[in-house]
Amino acid sequence: MQRPHVQETGVAVAPQRTDVPQRTGASATFSELLKRVKAEGLLDLDPRYYIGRLVRNTTLLVAGLTAFFLLGDSWWQLVVAVWMGLCGGQSSFMWHDAGHKAMFRDKRAASAVGYFHANFVNGVSFGWWVNHHNRHHSNPNHLDMDPDIGRRTAIFDIKQYATRTPRQRFIVRYQSVLFFVLLVLESFKMHKTAVKSIAQGLTKRPVLESTLLLARARSI
Ligand SMILES: [Zn+2]
Repeated sequence: MQRPHVQETGVAVAPQRTDVPQRTGASATFSELLKRVKAEGLLDLDPRYYIGRLVRNTTLLVAGLTAFFLLGDSWWQLVVAVWMGLCGGQSSFMWHDAGHKAMFRDKRAASAVGYFHANFVNGVSFGWWVNHHNRHHSNPNHLDMDPDIGRRTAIFDIKQYATRTPRQRFIVRYQSVLFFVLLVLESFKMHKTAVKSIAQGLTKRPVLESTLLLARARSI
């Protein structure tokens, strides 16, 4: 039996099989990289890391809410708004990793984190997003198959220009300048998509999703 050999990096690599066709080009490079990343344990689950993050994020969010209620009618609320925006960003990292099942061994616990952070904290449909994001990772940056490319108002290739409405074409002409405006408006688009996807029956748990969205709307 052949023993695995160790490269200069110290990572054990399985000997190459000669009876299966070897990958070439970019896919060979990716396979090799994936093997090394796995061997280093970088894809192992680390629940303690996420528990620490969740506690930290909750503390930051509670601090922001406390400041909001204490300050009342004040221009300092603009600083609180920036703070809460950062908290929302941290929250989206949590639902992203929960959606990738990279958080806990217990899938129900990961889903609970995902639904709470996406639907309640950010007003995004977790069910819609997981499906959308999986398709994105299956065909990253593919002009026709990556939904993250197709659903944007901005275009990534001039061939897409013809597929846009006259209003969208006006935005496309100035998209390098309007990029940040589009980014700000993206949150409204995500709220709209959440309601639409639940109403169209595209999510697995419409009752849970809509309850969380309504609870969010009531608490704002
Ligand atoms: Zn991802």
